[in-house]
Amino acid sequence: MSQTLDGTDEFTPAPSDSSEGTPGRSPLFQKCDRFTKADELRHVGLYPYFRTIESPQDTEVIIDGHKMLMLGSNSYMGLTNDPRIKEAAIKAVEKYGSGCAGSRFLNGTLDIHIELEQQIADYLGKEAALVFTTGFQTNLGVISALVGREDNVFIDRTDHASIVDGARLGFGKTFKFMHNDVDDLDRLLSNSSAKGKLSVVDGIYSMEGDIAKLPAIVKVAQKHRAAIFVDDAHSLGVLGKIGNGTADHFDLVDEVDVIGGTFSKSLASIGGYVAADRATIDYLKHHARALIFSASMAPACVAATQKALEIIIAEPERREQLWRNTHFMLNELKRMGLDTGDSETPIIPVVIGEMEKCFAFWRALHDAGIFVNPVVAPATPSNRCLIRLSVMATHTEEQLSRALATIELVAKKLGVIGAAA
Ligand code: PMP
Repeated sequence: MSQTLDGTDEFTPAPSDSSEGTPGRSPLFQKCDRFTKADELRHVGLYPYFRTIESPQDTEVIIDGHKMLMLGSNSYMGLTNDPRIKEAAIKAVEKYGSGCAGSRFLNGTLDIHIELEQQIADYLGKEAALVFTTGFQTNLGVISALVGREDNVFIDRTDHASIVDGARLGFGKTFKFMHNDVDDLDRLLSNSSAKGKLSVVDGIYSMEGDIAKLPAIVKVAQKHRAAIFVDDAHSLGVLGKIGNGTADHFDLVDEVDVIGGTFSKSLASIGGYVAADRATIDYLKHHARALIFSASMAPACVAATQKALEIIIAEPERREQLWRNTHFMLNELKRMGLDTGDSETPIIPVVIGEMEKCFAFWRALHDAGIFVNPVVAPATPSNRCLIRLSVMATHTEEQLSRALATIELVAKKLGVIGAAA
């Protein structure tokens, strides 16, 4: 879910009011002129966004000339700075140039796009796949193309913003069910008389790191002849026997109709994908506007993705180490008495409470050289603001232990846990 700082509905721009506003300036910009929250936070040193990194995305990054321990990156496999992947990207630039200057539909399809699509389809156990320029565009394109006027789409309340926007873009009606609440999904599906029904869930939820209850979702969806789309943005490389995602994790590849995701996390690149049966992919190829009317994935990104995929398959020890790191962090945080919600994955929330305390927690960690991300309302309830930690396969035990010691110290200082805990 995306977040705004002013607490307004994240998708509805504030209305212009009837006052005249600044002479000579369109009333349209009233909302911009009145948006002061970011500046207020900047003034008190509590603005946590758009931090400028001066180094590769790795377990340590450089900010303002200082080394920081990175615990806020989606590079779960730790591959973004891998020399083999960088080399593959460089070679692709040398062979194909820096961009494709057009969409897949017209002049922007390369042989390596087609190769990558076959590799993704094979990896995920689906007939065919289609790659988009980003994961966000994948969700916009796929959901809006599949959900027609006669159809209904059912999304989890905490689905990613791109799923929400994809549903908004489609002509069908959208229903939101309570987070991971299969009874609520069942109720909404029962009440729907739509011709076509699509249920969309995140495989791993991006804010709280819990996993979709796919076996129960599949059962309910089948009962109502609803299709299922799983967004595996955070699960690719992480879940599944060969890192091939949530459906494989639950042995439900055939039961999940459509699998989507991104190459911007475990696969150390930029791009999105959707995999399904051949007819669905061919339909999407000719109807997904985010694909047809946008330039294709750049050659360097395609080659980097291909190399990352090859490495993830060839080196299962990376995933094993990621899970060891994840369990170590989860166990230690719980032992301290911190609330990590329902997380069971490398995305680990630490529930802090009110926004002010959450920003203070973030700032204390930042000052101690630890990079984490705060998550505040409306991405969470306003009394459940949290610090989101992301574990990487390449974090060393020393790095994680150092982070844990600092987190415990700050948590005691700010009263998140008792001093004696
Ligand atoms: N889906 C989910 C669940 C995500 O977390 C994200 C990225 N945060 C996306 C889609 C969008 O992916 P991309 O970064 O490739 O646009």
